[in-house]
Amino acid sequence: MTAPHHVIVGGSAAGVAAALAMRRNGFEGRITLVEAASEEPYERPPLSKSFIDLDAPRRILPPSTYVEEDIDLLLGMPVAALDVDRKVVRLPDGEGLGADAVLVATGVNARRLGVPGEYLEHVLVLRGLADARALAARLDVGGPWVIVGGGFIGLEAAAVARGRGIDVTVVEAMPVPLAGVLGPALAAHVQRMHEREGVRILGGRTVTEFVGEREVEKVVLDDGSVLDAATVLVGCGVEPNDELARDAGVYCNGGIVADRHGRTSVPWIWAAGDVATFVSPFTGRRQRIEHWDVANRLGTVTGANMVGVPAVNTDAPYFWSDQYGHRLQMYGRHQPGDQFVVRPGVTTAQFVAFWVRDGRVTAAAAIDSPKELRATKPLIEGRVPVMASDLIDPAVSLRALGRVASSTKPDRDGA
Ligand SMILES: Cc1cc2nc3c(=O)[nH]c(=O)nc-3n(C[C@H](O)[C@H](O)[C@H](O)COP(=O)(O)OP(=O)(O)OC[C@H]3O[C@@H](n4cnc5c(N)ncnc54)[C@H](O)[C@@H]3O)c2cc1C
Repeated sequence: MTAPHHVIVGGSAAGVAAALAMRRNGFEGRITLVEAASEEPYERPPLSKSFIDLDAPRRILPPSTYVEEDIDLLLGMPVAALDVDRKVVRLPDGEGLGADAVLVATGVNARRLGVPGEYLEHVLVLRGLADARALAARLDVGGPWVIVGGGFIGLEAAAVARGRGIDVTVVEAMPVPLAGVLGPALAAHVQRMHEREGVRILGGRTVTEFVGEREVEKVVLDDGSVLDAATVLVGCGVEPNDELARDAGVYCNGGIVADRHGRTSVPWIWAAGDVATFVSPFTGRRQRIEHWDVANRLGTVTGANMVGVPAVNTDAPYFWSDQYGHRLQMYGRHQPGDQFVVRPGVTTAQFVAFWVRDGRVTAAAAIDSPKELRATKPLIEGRVPVMASDLIDPAVSLRALGRVASSTKPDRDGA
């Protein structure tokens, strides 16, 4: 009998984690990791934070690990199709890889705006290494830069460009960038940080057109105003790269619909990472979460399930962002109506913010307070009863509050 063969499509946070998890859980069959890009799997988060070391991007694993773990890496191979009937993964040259199970971990693509002029030269997006290299080259040209979309990637790029003395304007459809994810108070704090550094933030505006001969020269906004631009970064969200799965008949709805184990509607095909929607144990809502740590965990869990070891992800979602030398981190998810309280840090620049509902912390975010923030994880995951007055009192140890939870972490792994 031949050894089973698992094929993973997409070599990034989720795909690489899944391959490792299969080995860690005793899988002795063949593992092939197929990646469209020709680069060995690298970390994306640094791409928007410095634009240096782009010739030597941080690898997810040292190259030797793929050899040691017996993981076949096929680079520069965009998978063309998944043939469910024959159980074959079609490569671009028409070759087929027979597979006993397939994991789709194809992530997301940067969303385009669909307005005139968006394919002019120097209207860029930032998703992969090639994008980061193109943007880095524009740093040497100078400004003005217009960043369309005040999400984390846009704001991190704004901070880097300002650090190089470039004139930067951020155009954001919401009144305040990041208000949805951070809430109004924290989002306003981040906006002030940018404005202090000289970034112009135009909230409540959208772009109607990019203008130029061959290269972008102007950006037209919905109120008729016109901005000069030598470089534009469009950071207006992403779209799930679920075409392969859809074409294979997998049920998709805003991404590949997966259960808590990573199974899709087609038993041969599994899904993990940014491309997959799953029911969050924290919100009870089905969603896609585009964070490195979450993609990694979903990959780990799905890899284990694919080799018959039951696993679910019960960790609170986590992300971080670096801007102007400050680190913003967040665990959990808050909802409208949650109480918002702030615990001051040692300096005025440091703090931990909490969202509280029914006497429990739903989410916590911090600036330059990694230890304190880490102590909030068990509070959130353990649904520990807390008093807001304790949370905001720097004399009360968050770790001590969290210890109550450590032995009682409930199994809230969603549907
Ligand atoms: C610039 C940038 C900065 C970020 N910063 C942060 C941060 O600070 N903190 C944070 O938490 N998150 C951050 N993120 C988000 C984080 O990187 C993602 O959540 C994570 O990369 C998702 O991993 P993934 O494996 O699901 O998908 P992806 O990383 O999107 O990888 C999918 C892979 O699939 C490959 N692929 C697609 N189609 C095919 C095909 N047909 N055949 C073969 N291969 C295919 C792609 O080439 C790609 O390599 C950042 C993202 C970007 C782009």
